[in-house]
Amino acid sequence: MHSPISKISLDGRVFYVKRDDLIDPFLAGNKYRKLYTLLQTPPNKLTKVISYGGTQSNAMLAIAAMCKQKGWEFKYYSKPISQTLKNENCGNFYHAKNLGMIHIEIEQQFYKDFIASLRFNLDEKTFIIDQGGAVEEAKLGLEVLADEIKNSGLGVKSLATPSGTGTTALYLALSLPEYRVYTTPCVGDTSYLKEQMSALHEIPKNLTILEPQKKYHFAKPYREFLEMQQKLLEAGVEFDLVYAPSLWKCLIEQTDEEIIYIHSGGVSGNESMMHRYRQKGFI
Ligand SMILES: *Cc1c(COP(=O)(O)O)cnc(C)c1O
Repeated sequence: MHSPISKISLDGRVFYVKRDDLIDPFLAGNKYRKLYTLLQTPPNKLTKVISYGGTQSNAMLAIAAMCKQKGWEFKYYSKPISQTLKNENCGNFYHAKNLGMIHIEIEQQFYKDFIASLRFNLDEKTFIIDQGGAVEEAKLGLEVLADEIKNSGLGVKSLATPSGTGTTALYLALSLPEYRVYTTPCVGDTSYLKEQMSALHEIPKNLTILEPQKKYHFAKPYREFLEMQQKLLEAGVEFDLVYAPSLWKCLIEQTDEEIIYIHSGGVSGNESMMHRYRQKGFI
């Protein structure tokens, strides 16, 4: 299934958006691409998937949707979470639990050692996915995306997608050496992003990391993010409130050519983010 491409106009410029957000309500965006190899795995090859990390994570929700589809048990470990989050009836955590995710809290002081021990005594029918879905197997799924872009018939030679671990931007740039790939760090700063990418592969020359003009903390509400998201909504596409606004700001401020923005998904988390924007008094 090829995701469609939308044309939008923003700040008097034309942008194309590769609509990976439309693939599935829960299993979409770059998490769909990153889980591609596992999605091709016959259900009887595995019985269980284990992952860990934040409880608002888009990766968590995508894995939950995949496991539901495959009939695999899904265990997800996190640090202790608040009662408020446990009681929420919207957002990624709520949806993941509805899809059958078994959530287990690990006390702060044992967390690091516990995660490190997950790989001990693994049986061959259990698969571990590291935080954020950072897996080598992501490469194949991003090659499929690269082919779709090459075959789109658009003459545009610049792409953009926001980074957490940088897995998506890195493999996309490696699969499309004739394109320029823009990204920006949304978790930590540029040197952290480069470190994460370099652990997977040498960073290619066609990958350009744009620096946001201000330091943003991951998944915090910012007035200018909300304004950017609203502008994008008016342009016709809903984006996530955590990753997309920062990259869109960079693209508008620091580039001037035609660009295909690869929608990385994550809109399922907007409900609970909007709740936080309201609490902060931004709405
Ligand atoms: C996970 C995620 C990212 C970051 O992807 P990486 O491959 O870790 O860089 C970007 N945008 C959205 C919406 C995400 O869910």
